[in-house]
Amino acid sequence: MPSSPPTPPAAPALLPRSEEELARLPASERIRYRLLDARCRHHANDNISAFVREGELDELKAEVQAKAQELLHALVIDTDSDHNTHGTAERLARMYIDEVFGGRYRPMPTVTEFPNAERLNELMIVGPITVRSACSHHLCPILGKVWVGLLPNEHSNLIGLSKYARICDWIMSRPQIQEEAVMMLANELQERVRPDGLAIVMEADHFCMHWRGVKDDESAMVNSVMRGAFLKDANLRREFLSLLARKQS
Ligand SMILES: [Zn+2]
Repeated sequence: MPSSPPTPPAAPALLPRSEEELARLPASERIRYRLLDARCRHHANDNISAFVREGELDELKAEVQAKAQELLHALVIDTDSDHNTHGTAERLARMYIDEVFGGRYRPMPTVTEFPNAERLNELMIVGPITVRSACSHHLCPILGKVWVGLLPNEHSNLIGLSKYARICDWIMSRPQIQEEAVMMLANELQERVRPDGLAIVMEADHFCMHWRGVKDDESAMVNSVMRGAFLKDANLRREFLSLLARKQS
């Protein structure tokens, strides 16, 4: 996986387990066993879909639902008589696995690449792409926008405009840290498009700043990644940033 280089955990070698032994374990333990066995990193913002087998996401949802119910219980919420929270554990499980963290469990969306037949070599800007994510620290929403700047060359692969949004959504639908999210997106696009230059700017509101903590309503975080020609050529960088400023207003 290009966006998440596996870092071998320091744990000692796992005891080999048969398929029957694995089948008796909860789905999360089974998936974790495969990840550890392959020495594959599984941080909050890593995609682990290659280690999840058919039907296991439903098992995972049932597990998360049971744990979420325990969480509500520990928060001393009477989910039996409170009709508002009666189905909350189940809704949380579905929301995490299928929706807001779906980018961890779903494989990368299929993206068709086609050769740069017209030999386009002008600055291309895609955006604003809507970002919906959550911070790894509090699992609070992060909402924002991303702009992508590309300087293709004759060997670059081009991808359809809507595909940028789909790749972005796949990476952002995980508990993220903004700095790492933009790097992951840059790696994925670099790998696919292979442009001479790649620039990404992300501006986002972190709800853990609004809802809790300092309760600051003004703060938004801006991050950028500049690669290749955008790093070397100050004029190109300026052109990208000025077009972006114009698009924003
Ligand atoms: Zn946070």
